[in-house]
Amino acid sequence: MASTSSPYFQSEENSTKKSAASRGANSKSQNRKRRSQPVPIAYEESVGEAADELVAAAPAPAKWEAQLANIKLMRADKSAPVDNMGCHTLADGAAEPKTKDEVTAAAMARLRRHGCTLDNILATDNAELGRLIYPVGFWKKKVDYIKRASQALKDSHSGDIPDSVAGLCSLPGVGPKMAHIAMRCAWDRLTGIGVDTHVHRIAARLGWTKKAKEPEDTRKQLEAWLPREHWSEVNQLLVGFGQQLCTPVNPRCSDCLNKAVCPSAKLSKAKISKSETV
Ligand code: SF4
Repeated sequence: MASTSSPYFQSEENSTKKSAASRGANSKSQNRKRRSQPVPIAYEESVGEAADELVAAAPAPAKWEAQLANIKLMRADKSAPVDNMGCHTLADGAAEPKTKDEVTAAAMARLRRHGCTLDNILATDNAELGRLIYPVGFWKKKVDYIKRASQALKDSHSGDIPDSVAGLCSLPGVGPKMAHIAMRCAWDRLTGIGVDTHVHRIAARLGWTKKAKEPEDTRKQLEAWLPREHWSEVNQLLVGFGQQLCTPVNPRCSDCLNKAVCPSAKLSKAKISKSETV
């Protein structure tokens, strides 16, 4: 199991970064750039779907800049599981969001060792695929998603992944979170913020969102005020922060640089509601 301790608090060796973008999808076109790790990407005005989704600008939370700067400082060593496991592939996205990150990463590692190509996945029977991804939550359903998504990629997308959020979301088991992350990692297009359970929870705790019930609510609220230059980095920053410090249960507030500027810092763990720990 990967370390969940940050060298900000105790010094540990970083694991070698693994490529995230190179996993899974078939690389058909040589002139299409794929990224191995999220890096800052300029917003593309020509991405119609992003423009269509833009909501009215909202006022930014008062302390967001200080809070984000603190998170960057606490995440500077990039020692979280997300930094080393790179849960940013389509097959990762098909994994159950309530499954622990380490379990998902281990399942992906087994899939890659098995050979994570379309033809190989399609040639693998469901029982073997299930064995490879178990104990990811709802693994039987995920096997079905992986198989059907692979068939759809082969039949309708020339063995590549779609280059639009709508196209990605049309694949079985792929939702907006993975679609936006895939657009950034695979197609160099910044179409939106990838909001998973960590981003959803931490944004609420920091006061960056108000009464956001679902990750999609969080995404829309964040995109209404967070400057675009932070969109590409915020997912990985907050996911790692959520894995190491601002954990679903018992966040380490006393160790957190945000304790003086976080509205949730003084909450007892009983007051950090179950709804935040999805
Ligand atoms: S102070 Fe606590 S709740 Fe607030 S961001 Fe830090 S760890 Fe999370």
